[in-house]
Amino acid sequence: MFTLIQLPYASDALAPVISADTLAFHHGKHLQAYVDNLNRLLPGSGLEEKSLEEIVCEAEGAIFNNAGQILNHNLYFTQFRPMSPSLPAPTGNLVAQIEKQWGTLEAFKSDFVAKGTTLFGSGWVWLSAAPGGTLVISQEPNAGNPVTRGLKPILTFDVWEHAYYLDYQNRRAAHLEALWGIVDWKVLEERYNSK
Ligand code: MN
Repeated sequence: MFTLIQLPYASDALAPVISADTLAFHHGKHLQAYVDNLNRLLPGSGLEEKSLEEIVCEAEGAIFNNAGQILNHNLYFTQFRPMSPSLPAPTGNLVAQIEKQWGTLEAFKSDFVAKGTTLFGSGWVWLSAAPGGTLVISQEPNAGNPVTRGLKPILTFDVWEHAYYLDYQNRRAAHLEALWGIVDWKVLEERYNSK
């Protein structure tokens, strides 16, 4: 049985980038539905004892879609923290690798947002790491996650309309730009440094 993750911040803590209304639907309704669907689909599938990552790598069809959306949203919701004007610029191994590959953090952000903006339809834009530490940006349709190609997920922006439509309507690029204000670089650094 999988359960809905608890958010590590108050429901109004990410506003105005992600409003309490959007969180109530996105976390409380959409993610809850993926959890309920997966729990209904798993019995008899042979995947009952597997981890979420293993299910995503092994399953197809409805089980893949619902497990993928749970894994994606768990990574998404736990990478944010409330906006704060006093936070220092991010540092660490991840930022050093970003600067090595993109030149500057700003150039990386702009590439990442462009990949999210040009992803046609619903899906996710990902920053992930190859086994040697090299970083990759990828566009994944629907419930896709780079873990299925042996990459380690670091950062993701959800470009399904349910992630932003209440707050930004059709302005996907403006929403993605605003997300930088709530990204918790300490979490990303931990993900990058983890095994
Ligand atoms: Mn979503």
